[in-house]
Amino acid sequence: MNETRNTKNNKGPNKKGSKFNIYWIYGIVILVLLVIQVYSAGVGASEEISYKRFNELAQSGAIDKLEVVNKTTAKVYIKKSRLDSEEFKNISTDAFNINQPHFNFNIGTVDALETRLEKINESLQPDQQIFPLYRNEYSWTSALTYILPIILIVAIWIFIMRRMSGGAGGPGAQIFNIGKSKATLFDKDTKVNVTFQDVAGLDEAKEEVIEVVDFLKNPKKYTALGGKIPKGVLLVGPPGTGKTLLAKAVAGEAEVPFFTISGSDFVEMFVGVGASRVRDLFRQAREKAPCIIFIDEIDAIGRARGRNSIQGGNDERENTLNQLLVEMDGFSSEKGVILMAATNRPDVLDSALLRPGRFDRQIGIDRPDLNGREQIFRVHLKHIKASSAVNAEVLAEMTPGFAGAEIANVCNESALIAARRGKKKVDMDDFNYALDKVIGGLEKKNKLISPGEKKVIAYHEAGHAICGWFLEHASPLVKVTIVPRGIGTLGYAQYLPKEEYITSTEQLLDRMCMTFGGRAAETIVFGKVSTGAQNDLDQITKMAYSMISVYGMNENVGNVSFYGLQKDQISKPYSEETSALIDSEVRKMVQIQFERAKDLLSKHRNELEILAHALLEKEVVVKSDLELLIGNRPYPEEEKLKKQLPDQIVSIEDVDDNNTTTT
Ligand code: ADP
Repeated sequence: MNETRNTKNNKGPNKKGSKFNIYWIYGIVILVLLVIQVYSAGVGASEEISYKRFNELAQSGAIDKLEVVNKTTAKVYIKKSRLDSEEFKNISTDAFNINQPHFNFNIGTVDALETRLEKINESLQPDQQIFPLYRNEYSWTSALTYILPIILIVAIWIFIMRRMSGGAGGPGAQIFNIGKSKATLFDKDTKVNVTFQDVAGLDEAKEEVIEVVDFLKNPKKYTALGGKIPKGVLLVGPPGTGKTLLAKAVAGEAEVPFFTISGSDFVEMFVGVGASRVRDLFRQAREKAPCIIFIDEIDAIGRARGRNSIQGGNDERENTLNQLLVEMDGFSSEKGVILMAATNRPDVLDSALLRPGRFDRQIGIDRPDLNGREQIFRVHLKHIKASSAVNAEVLAEMTPGFAGAEIANVCNESALIAARRGKKKVDMDDFNYALDKVIGGLEKKNKLISPGEKKVIAYHEAGHAICGWFLEHASPLVKVTIVPRGIGTLGYAQYLPKEEYITSTEQLLDRMCMTFGGRAAETIVFGKVSTGAQNDLDQITKMAYSMISVYGMNENVGNVSFYGLQKDQISKPYSEETSALIDSEVRKMVQIQFERAKDLLSKHRNELEILAHALLEKEVVVKSDLELLIGNRPYPEEEKLKKQLPDQIVSIEDVDDNNTTTT
């Protein structure tokens, strides 16, 4: 991978560049101190004398000259001719003293010295009189008292700055690199191995991005007719549906440089860094044009401005977004820079970002349908050694609502499980196990469940399944299990929803009734309820409030929807009376459906008993087992419709003591 300025993994290249080391400063300071020490040792070699001794020397006419340094110290030089005498025996042999003062003394004040010298000169011959020479001398030691603190402060500052930038971008990062973009560059030297072949399904999305690749390769073809090449392509869809994969495939196919960066990489604790990184990214891109920039999770910077202003502190993100908008306006797509971005929250994006001229194309990527899932399974099955019994079509049917990432996960898990079991090939059993694991979590073999509790769970799950079986508009069952899994999960029922894009009141009511099946069964069979229905009740309450206050499905409240209003306002967008009315209608609706579920299960008590006993015995019951036990579903099967709406209702019961949920 050719990482131009990635500061995370580039210990190697950056180390070479940073020759500066903090230890150099320490070394220099110590060296300076040593030099001063040696130098000042020489200066201090002259002998310090008293004023009395100076007086004697002056009277004897031995003084050649007198120097007063810095108005504090007098330096006495003895005449050369006198140095040989016995009196100066000790100093005359000292090599140091040839050009050095021989004695020194403290003068006190200049005035005091002058007065004393006047007195001495009175008694001396005119040619022997002493007139001092005043001189200023800057000693290293005094200079050091100023320099040393400055050096220390600078050293500490550099140290802190290096630490700060190191924390943000790895050990080699410099503070000066902080405004540089952290995008990873893929170009012809760093081949991306992902191609469009690896992206299964998503045919329409692929078509759109293939065109983008074509724009970059043959821009003339499109501009010849006066068309403008789009500047930006936004991939929108739930997590794990293959947006990043698609972008990588574009990089693999386009054969042009491809910059990839995550929205959060622009965000830093320093103000202005985000904007500077955006500028740097586009500058680099312009240098490499034609090329593609891919910003993953663009909602990290592209959130609508002005929202959440109560919290404050959004300025930096807004500046970054503004810079991105400016850059997108600034570059012309003729230069061959196309911006791709991915998000799963298009609703929070700023409208300025979404307008044509910036992100001209928005490509919706949804969870795959049955066909899509089958194709994705085929892509991922290629990478594992699966037995011939493993059928992508069957697997696709068993995984309603799964996104590509979950399918990849199931394939990987099943291979790991098969390996753990010491098999040579992955078979269907491993896939079943992996599916359960992905949906419900890890099987808890040693979880102790009392027979009484197990019975409650079995009837609860059977209640859901039987309700769904005999309600016309409910989704047909795929599988029901009471194997304890994951944290606090004691069983689940999985359904296969129909292909629909709008839902009728009847369907929602049937769904609500089916969700009540668990609690209704408990009430009928045991005469009491348990905490196991918490998740169900949660779903039911949400559903009931949505039906009444969002979808306008209640006669008394009327055809009104408060969804949009509720989003924009903190307080309720309706009066207290309406609020009370909604509450009472919700209660009424919920109660009716609960009674309905109870009636239905009382009517089919026999079937309920059969399924509950089968569950207690086998722990897992799939649709075909149920058909053998209680006959076919009384409604025509929708399965003939090959394409199905990707959606999944999984009711996961929770009756674990550790879990604090209560009803
Ligand atoms: P997101 O939409 O969150 O960016 P990714 O593109 O990162 O999702 O998908 C995660 C993984 O899921 C991919 O690496 C790939 O293995 C798998 N995947 C998702 N969609 C598909 C697909 N259409 N075909 C093949 N694999 C897919």
